[in-house]
Amino acid sequence: MNVQKVCVLGSTGSIGENTLDVIARHPERFSVHSLSAYSRIGRLVEQAAATHAKVVVVPDDDARKRFVGLWQGPSLPEVRVGAQALADTAADPEVTTVMAAIVGTAGLPAALAAARAGKRVLLANKEALVAAGGLFMQAVRDHGAELLPIDSEHNAIFQCLPEGEERARAPQRPAQGVRRLLLTASGGPFRTLALEALHDVTPDQACAHPNWSMGRKISVDSATMLNKGLEVIEAHWLFSMAPDAIQVLIHPQSLVHSMVEYEDGSILAQLGQPDMRTPIAYGLGFPERIASGVGLFDLARMHRLDFEQPDFQRFPCLALAFDALRAGQASCISLNAANEVAVERFLAGRIRYTEIPRIIGDCLERMSAAAGPVPGSLEDVLEHDHHARAIAAELCLLRA
Ligand code: NAD
Ligand code: MG
Repeated sequence: MNVQKVCVLGSTGSIGENTLDVIARHPERFSVHSLSAYSRIGRLVEQAAATHAKVVVVPDDDARKRFVGLWQGPSLPEVRVGAQALADTAADPEVTTVMAAIVGTAGLPAALAAARAGKRVLLANKEALVAAGGLFMQAVRDHGAELLPIDSEHNAIFQCLPEGEERARAPQRPAQGVRRLLLTASGGPFRTLALEALHDVTPDQACAHPNWSMGRKISVDSATMLNKGLEVIEAHWLFSMAPDAIQVLIHPQSLVHSMVEYEDGSILAQLGQPDMRTPIAYGLGFPERIASGVGLFDLARMHRLDFEQPDFQRFPCLALAFDALRAGQASCISLNAANEVAVERFLAGRIRYTEIPRIIGDCLERMSAAAGPVPGSLEDVLEHDHHARAIAAELCLLRA
């Protein structure tokens, strides 16, 4: 068996840690080539020592000095510095497999570099597809890469579609006989909270997800359901489905991770415990199934599976995402950028939770008034993203 040499981008995050957990269970299949972290350099040192990573990537010279100062083992890994080093490492000829698990559009250049270098790309970083879905899918097809979705919903849909091996290599083939994709959503921590109470919710309350343990940004996105909106856009690109053929369903138990409805009326679902090691192991082992560390599940203890329509008044961010997808790529970039800025300000205690959809909505309006040509290159995407962030930052100050 050829050993896969894995680069884990964002190894100190929630997906990164889960990836290393699965990798450690299969030393005969995987070795860690490289790891990256933006903060928590002490944790990166521990990970590099445990995995014998050859390369680590840190954001700046201070972080490099900290890494070297904390290192105690015999052979110091090569320490690379900066955003360009992230992209170069993802494309390193020694790497076979890249886990793209940086949060936000900050992860886009390296994820795209991995696709352009023809790697097996395990894509957790959904913001990359939201901002640059067309470019990204084109890169996978043009450079012989393999794309395996790690987001649990998309991984579930991928599992419910036929011809996985062809699909991973040539994503976006229209799937024959598919009528709709049914994306499930937990509804987050505020699914039943009185609407008036949303005004006063704190960052810690927003991050207390009932079923999943995740990074803070995606936890807030789950509370607002902008996360599901990003996932609708992600599904559009991954599976070539029109917005009207993607339905969001609230499913509070988070056991059915998503479904595919076919022309004949069949609905195929993928079920499992809410543990990201399942989709991660699926992507790492594909097309084989490998152990993930997720234990047996006693379905008999689940008395019910509920499904309900999302309430757009409670979750205005979901409606904004559908609007952005219909409006086109520039709006998707603005939606994502404004959300990243607004969530960061909310987590820092500078704006209220209920300002998040207002800032995104206002930013979308201001950006569409100033709309230029559709961003056609990575540079264009990043420029549009930068512009939307500046407007969102201004709007945050007005609403602080
Ligand atoms: P996290 O916040 O726990 O970790 C993010 C990682 O990215 C960390 O290693 C951090 O150091 C690094 N990072 C942050 N900013 C960076 C920057 N500017 N440059 C370089 N590196 C940077 O996030 P997470 O929950 O692991 O999520 C990672 C990605 O996976 C997100 O796009 C998220 O939407 C997606 N995702 C996560 C889950 C989950 O269960 N956590 C599920 C589905 C999808
Ligand atoms: Mg998801």
